[in-house]
Amino acid sequence: MKTLEIIDLHVTVEGKEILKGVNLVVNTGEIHAIMGPNGTGKSTLSQTIMGHPAYEITQGKIILDGQDLAEMSVDERARAGLFLAMQYPAEIQGITNFEFMRSAVNARRADDDQVNLMDFIKELDEKREFLSMSNEMANRYLNEGFSGGEKKRNEILQMMMIHPNIAILDEIDSGLDIDALKVVSKGVNSMRSDDFATLMITHYQRLLDYIVPDFVHVMMGGKVVKTGGPELAKRLEGEGYRALRDELGLDI
Ligand code: ADP
Ligand code: MG
Ligand code: MG
Repeated sequence: MKTLEIIDLHVTVEGKEILKGVNLVVNTGEIHAIMGPNGTGKSTLSQTIMGHPAYEITQGKIILDGQDLAEMSVDERARAGLFLAMQYPAEIQGITNFEFMRSAVNARRADDDQVNLMDFIKELDEKREFLSMSNEMANRYLNEGFSGGEKKRNEILQMMMIHPNIAILDEIDSGLDIDALKVVSKGVNSMRSDDFATLMITHYQRLLDYIVPDFVHVMMGGKVVKTGGPELAKRLEGEGYRALRDELGLDI
């Protein structure tokens, strides 16, 4: 089992404090959802976990299996089983999707255990078909000219190829039509196991009808202010954030 522990995390971006004491524990085997209004720091949390240099931890820490993430490079974090599907996946010209995925898969593996090319192709074909993606996408430049939905599907394909232990999926459902949402959900659900956890950031309860979470957290004002089960997401869908804000007596 792997455990990601976020303890009293304070993060500053460009001199402004965005995260103001986030506490959260994610164990493999669990599905977590994070909801919260725009600008509350959900993407900041995900970028900080992955080690983006623009996000400075000023207080608190993030621990993965007893190890402080602050002491680990981005590569070491990936090797330790962390994965981030970014809200806005980057387009990279000159690197094909195939090459990118192969190097990401190898980055996760030891130097003397690099993936066999034929095995890689076979697995990529299987997973691509599972996600109803066309064969030619592998040879296109990474995300270049991909539609919003194709980018999100491609993030899920990467996740399935890399086999992370803890995957952070930042708005993986944004801009998806219902068919694409089902495909993306199928991909995430296929990863469910005792060795896998996901932290899904979403604005929409609808995603959680397809990927039923164990825990739903609400972030407001740079903190997790409430944790519950799937019913919490349903309540927010009905009432919005204001009722919860009033109930908790929050001035944010
Ligand atoms: P959410 O994902 O919850 O919508 P974000 O984490 O994207 O929120 O943003 C929280 C706040 O931090 C916003 O005010 C945003 O403008 C600011 N912020 C986040 N990342 C950056 C960055 N790289 N540079 C400047 N400001 C940023
Ligand atoms: Mg947002
Ligand atoms: Mg965001």
